[in-house]
Amino acid sequence: INDLDNVIRADRDHVWHHLTQHKPYETKDPRVMVEGKGMRLWDASGREHLDAVSGGVWTVNVGFGRESIGKAISDQVTRLNFFAQNVGSIPGAMFAEKLIERMPGLSRVYFVNSGSEANEKAFKMVRQIAHKRFGGKKHKILFRERDYHGSTIATMSAGGQPERNAQYGPYTPGFVQVPHCLEYRAQWDVENYGERAADAIEEVILREGADTVGALCLETVTAGGGVITPPKGYWERVQEICRKYDILLHLDEVVCGVGRTGTWFGYQQYGIQPDLVTMAKGVASGYAAIACLVTTEEVFNMFKDDASDPMSFFRDISTYGGCTAGPAAALENMRIIEDEGLLANTDAMGARLMDNLHALKDKHAAVGDVRGLGLFCGAELVADRVSKTPAGEAQVQAVIADCMAQGVIIGATARALPGLNNTLCLAPALIATADDIDAITDAIDGALTRVFG
Ligand code: PMP
Repeated sequence: INDLDNVIRADRDHVWHHLTQHKPYETKDPRVMVEGKGMRLWDASGREHLDAVSGGVWTVNVGFGRESIGKAISDQVTRLNFFAQNVGSIPGAMFAEKLIERMPGLSRVYFVNSGSEANEKAFKMVRQIAHKRFGGKKHKILFRERDYHGSTIATMSAGGQPERNAQYGPYTPGFVQVPHCLEYRAQWDVENYGERAADAIEEVILREGADTVGALCLETVTAGGGVITPPKGYWERVQEICRKYDILLHLDEVVCGVGRTGTWFGYQQYGIQPDLVTMAKGVASGYAAIACLVTTEEVFNMFKDDASDPMSFFRDISTYGGCTAGPAAALENMRIIEDEGLLANTDAMGARLMDNLHALKDKHAAVGDVRGLGLFCGAELVADRVSKTPAGEAQVQAVIADCMAQGVIIGATARALPGLNNTLCLAPALIATADDIDAITDAIDGALTRVFG
C-alpha cells in the first residue's frame, strides 16, 4: 500500500463504519489498520498496538498473520471456491466431522456466514418444529435480559438490551424475556442465587404456558451485555427445566465457541447438553466469514421425513454457506488450536488475567466486580462501590482512550447503552503470553489511576 493518505481519505469519505459512538463520518483514530501479527497491529500511521480484544469484537482467536490459514484458503478456493450446499465439499465435510468430534451429543452442522444468521436459522427451526409437532402452538422463544443474539430484526426481537433496540420496532412476535443472572446486580436476596435465577425462567414458562414455549435461547456467557458468567447451580437447573417442559435449549456460543473459554465450547464446562448451538466469531478467527448452527440427530430427524415438502427447512438456503473458504479456514484454525495447545494456554492465561483483575479491584475503588471464563474477562466500573452506581460513560471511555494512548486496545460492553456500558471487556487472542496479559492489566492500572485518581 503506497498512498495511505489516499486510503484514509477514501475511508473517511465513503465508509459507513460500525460501532461508532460519534457521527458516522468521524471515526476516531486509528482510522485504518494496516497489518497484524500475533496479538499486535499496526495502523496507517505506523503505530503499533497490543490488541486485547482480538480484532475489536473477540474474533481473531488464533491471532493475526497466520500464513497457514491464508494458504489453506488459497489452495482451496483456487481448486474449488463454491458450490451451493445441496452438495458437499471436501473442507465442509471434513470440518463438520472435526467439529462434531468435539461436540458429543450433537451430529449435524448447518453452514452460514454470521452469528446473527446462525441464530435466525435456529429460530426458524424452532418455529418449524412447533408447526410440525405441536400444531404451531409451541412457538415461543425465550431469551434473557442483557443477552445479545445479533443485529437483524428477529435476533433483535430476542435481544435483552432494550435501549439498543428501542428505535427499530415493531419486532417479531413470540419472543419473551427472562431475567438476567448477574449476581453482582442481584434481583433476589437468596443464598443459592444460580438456582433462583434459573427458577425465574420456570416462572416465565408457567406464566406463558409451557405448551406455548418451544426454545430457550441463552448466551453461555453473556458477552456484550456485561461479561456475565452464570452463578453456580444455574446451568444444571436450566437444563432440568428445559427437559421438564420439552423445551429446546439453544446456546449462543458466538463468542464462547471454539476455544475462547479454555474448552472447545463454553457450555462444556458446565456439563450440560444443548439441542442447538450457534457459533461464529472464533470458528475461523476472522480469516473467512463462516458461522455454524449445530444440532442433534433428533432435531435433524424431525425434518428428514418431509424433505420433499417445499416449505421444509430442508429447502432453506444461505448462498455463501457454500463458500469453501470458510470451512478450509476453520479446519486449519482448529488444527492450530490443537497443535499449539491453545486451550490449555487459554486456561492458564485466563487464570492469570483474572488474578490481575482481582489485584486491580483490590487497588482501585472504581472496580466494582470482576468476572470471566477463560480469556473472556470483564471488570465492571462503578462510581461508588456501596451503591454500585455504574461509572459514567465518559469515564469508561476515558479509560479505554488512555489505554489506547499507551498502545493497548481494550473495549467495553454494550457500548451504546447507559448503565450497561461500564464493564471493561478483555478478550486477548488464545496465544497470549504472561507478558501480554501483564501489559494489558498494567495499562488498565495506569488508566484507572489517571481517570479515577
Ligand atoms: N451472538 C453473540 C453472543 C454476539 O456477541 C454476536 C456479535 N457480537 C452475535 C450473536 C452476532 O454475530 P454477527 O455480528 O456475526 O451477526
